[in-house]
Amino acid sequence: MSSALSIRGFNAAASDKAIVKGFNLELPFGEVHALMGPNGSGKSTLCHALSGREGYQVSGEAVLDGTDLLALAVDERARTGLLQGFQYPVEVPGVHLREFVEEAAVSHGQSPEEASVRIEEAADAFDMTRFLDRALNDDLSGGEKKRSEIFQMAVLRPKVTLLDEIDSGLDIDAIRQVAAAVEAMRSPDVGVLMITHYSRILRFVIPDRVHVMIDGRVVDSGGPELADELEVGGYEGIRARLGLAAASTEAPPRKASDFFTDLPFER
Ligand code: ADP
Ligand code: MG
Repeated sequence: MSSALSIRGFNAAASDKAIVKGFNLELPFGEVHALMGPNGSGKSTLCHALSGREGYQVSGEAVLDGTDLLALAVDERARTGLLQGFQYPVEVPGVHLREFVEEAAVSHGQSPEEASVRIEEAADAFDMTRFLDRALNDDLSGGEKKRSEIFQMAVLRPKVTLLDEIDSGLDIDAIRQVAAAVEAMRSPDVGVLMITHYSRILRFVIPDRVHVMIDGRVVDSGGPELADELEVGGYEGIRARLGLAAASTEAPPRKASDFFTDLPFER
């Protein structure tokens, strides 16, 4: 059986700046993988470039269940089964969650009847029933928005789900809930790539594999223990173990007060 997602030698640049550089990752069906990396390592760029967002120069290989993603237009990529959760879910006043998801499901080839059955089932599973007839994301807490997103994915049933910083800005209870929702997405016909900066959510979702991304590529992959190593030693610890150069730390700008002393000059 082919992988849900197979990425090989993948590059993405924006405004002539190389951001993703020779990225490799195999995501088998039925697995949840974590992609972890410091800010600026190219995680979101990878998602945007895979989803086909405009403005990126892309090369290399990205194959979804045997289909070459890069040959497809954006809407075709989504229909083929690649769905990206957003780092900052949008609020759409006036459109109810139910209508929104139903329309998306129909555009993904489901019949309206099929869509409405899946909506009821998924709303039940992800505790979203009371939100169905409310405006999309309007007045939802951060955690509820993320749960809503996972609910939408459960209705659409993509083959590959990219969750970019699904844990960002959430308190610990919301993280726990979102983690439970991610666990509930596990299924033999889906691959989930959970992208995160912090290892916190990985206390509640146990990924099958953890990949560490630094400077645009995967520098190390392993089991959940890799997240534990990160929790203890941070990305600098991983860099040191792998013999990678330390993150470039620019000297902080000097403040005017650096040039003066508090004490009056001694005579
Ligand atoms: P991450 O999601 O891992 O924090 P990003 O993919 O958002 O990282 O960004 C990676 C690097 O690429 C950052 O240095 C960012 O400033 C830069 N970058 C992102 N998008 C663009 C763009 N459209 N044009 C130029 N540089 C960009
Ligand atoms: Mg990001």
